[in-house]
Amino acid sequence: MPKIYFIDVTNRDGVQTAKLGLSKLEKTLINIYLNEMGVFQSEFGFPTTKHETHYLLANLELAEMGVLQPIHLGGWIRAIVGDVETAFRQVPDIRHLNLSISTSDQMINAKFMGRKTRDDILNGMVEALEAARALGLETIGVNAEDASRTDLDFLIKFGVAAKEHGADRLRYCDTLGYDNPFTIYETVKALAENIGIAIELHCHGDLGMAVANSIAGAKGAIDGGQDAYINTTVNGIGERAGNADLVATILAVTKSKGFTDKYQLGNPIVLSKAWKTAKFASYAFGVPIPVNQPGVGANAFAHSSGIHADGVLKDPENYELYGFEELGRGEPVKVETGREIIAGQYSGISGFSHVMGKMEVSFANRDEANEILELVRYANVESQKPLVEDELLFIAKYPQIAKKLLTLKPLE
Ligand SMILES: [Zn+2]
Repeated sequence: MPKIYFIDVTNRDGVQTAKLGLSKLEKTLINIYLNEMGVFQSEFGFPTTKHETHYLLANLELAEMGVLQPIHLGGWIRAIVGDVETAFRQVPDIRHLNLSISTSDQMINAKFMGRKTRDDILNGMVEALEAARALGLETIGVNAEDASRTDLDFLIKFGVAAKEHGADRLRYCDTLGYDNPFTIYETVKALAENIGIAIELHCHGDLGMAVANSIAGAKGAIDGGQDAYINTTVNGIGERAGNADLVATILAVTKSKGFTDKYQLGNPIVLSKAWKTAKFASYAFGVPIPVNQPGVGANAFAHSSGIHADGVLKDPENYELYGFEELGRGEPVKVETGREIIAGQYSGISGFSHVMGKMEVSFANRDEANEILELVRYANVESQKPLVEDELLFIAKYPQIAKKLLTLKPLE
């Protein structure tokens, strides 16, 4: 039986959201949390974008060191030979890529303004795919942008060509959130049956159906005989109305009525890391988690009305579908209400040693402490907000990696 996997795209779709962004250290922490959660792949960035290079190389080094294992780190590029070559020049160790091209007549006609035909799209994709294969990638996904508005026969032709030239997956992009669970199910099932390749579901929330469409699409892929790779972002942060939320989609797959009897995860997901991951992404993006967010919202396990409170006290299953403990909630949180010493870009060694001492981190000597402090200062310059404990611990544990993450050399 084919299975369901997760490819989280927070560090690609999430960070390209208007008005939002993440520092390179924050992106790295997201990769670490996704790995701890058992997410199959993190689409960790843009290998053709110069300011990403040090970050991407440093994260691949973390993978090499076993820190980012077993998660796959995949880059996103346009499906053009020039992008493939640039990606390999800037990030030679990249092993997983998704190559993206628009496939709908709307976009072919109105983005390329008559310069490209469907055949050009097909041939361009095949050329890029062959170039990527020749350079030694392990896995390649081919993205059909605006797939939900693409003629089905052309989409099948596109997918068959991708498969024949060595693609491992076809990414079905509901770029505008146009599908509904019924249409995506039928379309994806037809793609799986006619192409015979694993399908990625990339769903957006413009009509409020990103999660529902993701699991309906996954069902379509599996019923059509293929593995399903659901694209998510942490807290659903993404272009416009956002993407399918990681935690909500995991809950939908594993907890919704009868779904998991037939449609199962390809590898175990550690849901108990959900709370930590969602809280960090909220802090890093500077976007509060809505109170009614599934699983991680402030009200997800709150009861006030008489009948509900009475019922949940007698047996939580009266009014809760799953326990808060499953998501890693329920631990007391210490909030400092008195004096606070914070490590920032203008900190000195005394305050910094105090902060690290509270986390039981000590240094071999003053030089080492000064080196870590210097990196913390730079990290704070980039993020412009106090670093969280895991960021400070990361810098102290992997100073050489942190140094690479914090290296920005414009116009190199
Ligand atoms: Zn997207």
